[in-house]
Amino acid sequence: MKIITAHIALCAASTLAAIAAPAAESAGPTAIAPITQIIAPKDHAYAGEIQLAVDATDNGRRIVHVHETLSGIGSDTVLFYPKWLPGTHAPEGPIDRIAGIRMTANGAPVSWTRDPADVYAFRVHPKSGTQSIDIDFDYLSPTSAKVGALEMSRDLVMIEWNELVLYPAGYFARQIPVQVSLTLPTDFQFASALEAASADGGRTLFKRTTLETLIDSPVYAGRYASKLDLDPGSAVPVHLDLFADRPELLAVKPEQLEAHRALVRQAYKLFASHHYNHYDFLYSLSDQIQENGLEHHQSSEDGSDPESFIKWDKTAFVRDLLAHEFTHSWNGKFRRPADLWTPNYNVPMQDSLLWVYEGQTQYWGQVLAARSGLRTRQEALDQLAITAAHYEIQKGREWRTLQDTTNDEIIDPRRPQSWLNWQRFEDYYDEGALIWLDADTWIRERSKGARSLDDFARTFFGIHDGSFAVVTYTFDDVVKALNAVEPNDWSSFLRQRLDGIAKPVPLDGFRRGGYKLVYTDTPSDYQAATEDQRKRIDLLNSIGIEVDDKDGDKMGTIDQVIWDSPAFKAKLTEGAQILAINGIAYDPDVLKDAIRAAHSRQQPIELILKIGDRYMVANIDYHDGLRYPHLERDTAEPARLDEILSARP
Ligand SMILES: [Zn+2]
Repeated sequence: MKIITAHIALCAASTLAAIAAPAAESAGPTAIAPITQIIAPKDHAYAGEIQLAVDATDNGRRIVHVHETLSGIGSDTVLFYPKWLPGTHAPEGPIDRIAGIRMTANGAPVSWTRDPADVYAFRVHPKSGTQSIDIDFDYLSPTSAKVGALEMSRDLVMIEWNELVLYPAGYFARQIPVQVSLTLPTDFQFASALEAASADGGRTLFKRTTLETLIDSPVYAGRYASKLDLDPGSAVPVHLDLFADRPELLAVKPEQLEAHRALVRQAYKLFASHHYNHYDFLYSLSDQIQENGLEHHQSSEDGSDPESFIKWDKTAFVRDLLAHEFTHSWNGKFRRPADLWTPNYNVPMQDSLLWVYEGQTQYWGQVLAARSGLRTRQEALDQLAITAAHYEIQKGREWRTLQDTTNDEIIDPRRPQSWLNWQRFEDYYDEGALIWLDADTWIRERSKGARSLDDFARTFFGIHDGSFAVVTYTFDDVVKALNAVEPNDWSSFLRQRLDGIAKPVPLDGFRRGGYKLVYTDTPSDYQAATEDQRKRIDLLNSIGIEVDDKDGDKMGTIDQVIWDSPAFKAKLTEGAQILAINGIAYDPDVLKDAIRAAHSRQQPIELILKIGDRYMVANIDYHDGLRYPHLERDTAEPARLDEILSARP
């Protein structure tokens, strides 16, 4: 707090000085002329077409060959590689992964230069009269997790088209026609929102579409695959397309399938609409490629623990993923913040409303997971308890607003960070969800149960049934729609929660929902199963650390230290490895026993730590025992949270 105050004072002082002082020339360089802007996108039809032929058969080496024919070009064409990506809300286009760019026209080389001020822009210099150019390049997908999130393996391929195309500047993406073919290993099956026009061996030609739809329609493909119908008999099919490292991971029990079908039914009851012709969950169960969660209009990329189905009892923690991504078809894709929507992929996005786009989606993801039976009500309550407890020790809230975290994808597109608890990161998801729980219970209380946030979902996201032409919204639109459900000063309600610093943890939704947050020395079954499956030891709400408990060299490594926690005060640091506790070799149970025993002792807990090739002894002065969060029923209020989590009839 002090640092921020001092900084503001300094800025104010220098501004005043600048105004008061007479203009004087200083020694040193002066700015060069402004950089020439690349042509702005216009909403008119592109006269040519992109023909894209993608060969993903070198999947074992993670190399993709791209051949593109682009017609309709002029003598000063600028081609963009997509930079600002929908769903990631950030300038993450992997321009560093394309190599071997060769451009030709009628077999003769065409020169190109990269724009000096924008490395995503290629200025192409064909001879005058050239109508069409051919472009070849290779997409070098990460070969190890050190390079980036893995996208391909011998058995599984995810194709994100934004990585595989150069497109002409100057046009809205929806105005650029594309025709795409994809060649895969012949024993692979694939799924996508794209529709096939023809197939020949491993090569599939897709129906002509627009660049906008193409980039929104990834393909998942693999050797071990299964396609499950989630809405049997419907004219608007919804499929669960599973792709796995091994065939046995595809074993889906009837009751598991039924819960996924219930997700579709419950989403339709909530939103009373759909915004696609068909929908595909592209779901990977893999250690070989990244766990993913990326929304699209008519599909989603979903990846979770490969044992999600075969260890159903241990993996409830992943089971809001599909509900979250499905919700995005309504919130985020069909209805999108006005400052986030861009006409093409090289216009900067603004993320100010992600607490609606992601926050309310996070909320409905958890609610729909419970309503559909993907999670039991108890599991849903246990997850909410963990979220609430997280914010009780979230130190970044002391200096940074929730609103400011909406910049996080741009500041740091999910690279690993140190001291995350002091940075605070992407809290528009989970703290955003708590705000929507707050709003939901407020509406339910005020309307005596007659109305709820379900009404907002139906009226705000449920318009234009069947259409998937994007409808944008502003903050004022959200406020207006909330007022139509239940009059309130919603602007102040939201702004107080978004703009406040060091505010109390937003727990009003639990209180009004008929629950209170309590701690006991025993984790919920849900939390215990999550720790076990993820191989992590969660001591965040006691001594303030999370420990990686994977076998091997990394065992006992501290992944996270809560800022100002007892562990922090004892000089524990992230990345240190715990070798011994009170003189006994590291074991998760020894650590937990020591925390338990310290409850009735004066002495601190003594750890021997290894940091690189240095050793240190740390004494943690902590005596409150193990602490795990739970939501406990408080009969002072009706059980509104139970109603929220119950299946709609
Ligand atoms: Zn999301």
